[in-house]
Amino acid sequence: MTNLRHDWTPEEVSALYKLPFIELVFQAQVAHRKYFSADKMQFASLLNIKTGTCPEDCKYCPQSGFYNTGLKKENLMCIEDVISEAKAAKARGAQRFCMGAAWRNPPKKDLPKVVEMIKAVKALGLETCVTLGMLDEPQTQTLKEAGLDFYNHNLDTSPEYYKEIISTRTYQDRLDTLENVRNAGIKVCCGGILGLGETREDRIGLLINLANLPEHPQSVPINKLIPIPGTPLAHNAPIDNFEFVRTIAVAKIMMPSSFIRLSAGRHDMSYELQTLCFLAGVNSIFLGDKLLTAENASLDRDQELMATLGISSI
Ligand code: SF4
Repeated sequence: MTNLRHDWTPEEVSALYKLPFIELVFQAQVAHRKYFSADKMQFASLLNIKTGTCPEDCKYCPQSGFYNTGLKKENLMCIEDVISEAKAAKARGAQRFCMGAAWRNPPKKDLPKVVEMIKAVKALGLETCVTLGMLDEPQTQTLKEAGLDFYNHNLDTSPEYYKEIISTRTYQDRLDTLENVRNAGIKVCCGGILGLGETREDRIGLLINLANLPEHPQSVPINKLIPIPGTPLAHNAPIDNFEFVRTIAVAKIMMPSSFIRLSAGRHDMSYELQTLCFLAGVNSIFLGDKLLTAENASLDRDQELMATLGISSI
């Protein structure tokens, strides 16, 4: 199917947000069903392979070296431990195994180790995704040659609000890495975080920057801020649940062939709120008790919810 658009305007996206809620969710379901079965879910698993002391200052992140959050710092994991975590993820039902490292960009001495991890995880029959910070062209090529399927690199919010959240890199830095990843033929996982204190205009700006990329990201993670004590956003008021669901529905209408992944923040969501997110177009979640350094919904609860809704794995 080809009628994907890359020319969204703020006026059009604003009009989508203003639709009556039921109509908006209905339109998102219609868009979703053109590309996906409504009762299928993609399951992924996310492992932090290197924790803390990150030189970036993302205000939401407990792994930034700028904030004292009491997080236990850990060096790059050994490959044996990564393989054992990947096997456990596969046994839980994950199809994709994502590995995250708290780096500004991958150190020269560590990239070969990550390459070995990618190859080993692929050999288990899992899709691979890594998030390692900024990449230049040779690094991207190295990851492509390792067989990497996806690279995660989020835009987080609008270009205007970005500098309120991160000062150690620019929006353009993010776009440059995304371009390197696309040019290397690696699929893109790119989304944002809601509840950073942004306005609806910022959410519109984020979605436009995602949808107007030369190709829609194949995976679009939508995160709900987990306010972590010790970070500058620890006391942020939570985003309104209906505004959260609206954003997912608008994202699905704008990028109907993309998997929308309900990522951070799901641990605290009721079954009913998660179900509204699924109705609005979410068809991917992380399984497992941990998401990087944060808590995730438990496997038991997820299995219960999927059974209640009659949703099975893609
Ligand atoms: S979000 Fe990533 S880049 Fe930003 S501080 Fe955390 S680990 Fe570093």
